[in-house]
Amino acid sequence: MIDVLSLFRQSGALHEGHFRLSSGLHSSGYLQCALVLQHPAHAETLGKALGDLLRDLNVTAVLSPALGGLIIGHEVARALGVRAIFAERQDTVLTLRRGFSLSDADRVVIIEDVVTTGGSTRETMVVAREAGATVVGAGSIVDRSGGAASLDVPFRSLVALSLPTYDPAACPMCAAGTPVTKPGSRG
Ligand SMILES: [Zn+2]
Repeated sequence: MIDVLSLFRQSGALHEGHFRLSSGLHSSGYLQCALVLQHPAHAETLGKALGDLLRDLNVTAVLSPALGGLIIGHEVARALGVRAIFAERQDTVLTLRRGFSLSDADRVVIIEDVVTTGGSTRETMVVAREAGATVVGAGSIVDRSGGAASLDVPFRSLVALSLPTYDPAACPMCAAGTPVTKPGSRG
């Protein structure tokens, strides 16, 4: 098994410490998958590993929500030897555009970079089902849901990562006197 978190740290995609997020909440870390996926070799490695976890589902197509799911969806599809298509928003509704289609013969897996609440995965599953396909599973590089992403299909990820956020008044790192920094600042 590949060391996913090492790959993320090397690429600057995962920072651990004490951060003030743009929401104002404090966090013990932050994650930016695009920074690891900017390296095609890393994207391919991650896609192959995730594809291996999903191979038994006999997938015929990968469907990803734009934009975050595109690169990893493409690499998982490459590993499985199937199509990679994506859903994108039109008037706030996630939909298949560009002539993409699915049929009732399709066995679809939903692929994203990170699953947090599972909301966008569920929304993408609806797109596949409305197109007539069977959703046979879902996968992500990182599972941040803490087991909370309850989906009605098998869900597999390469790594589970807990990065809790806190109201500053209730932040244990603030209580411990650890200096807070903004994401992106070095040191
Ligand atoms: Zn804090």
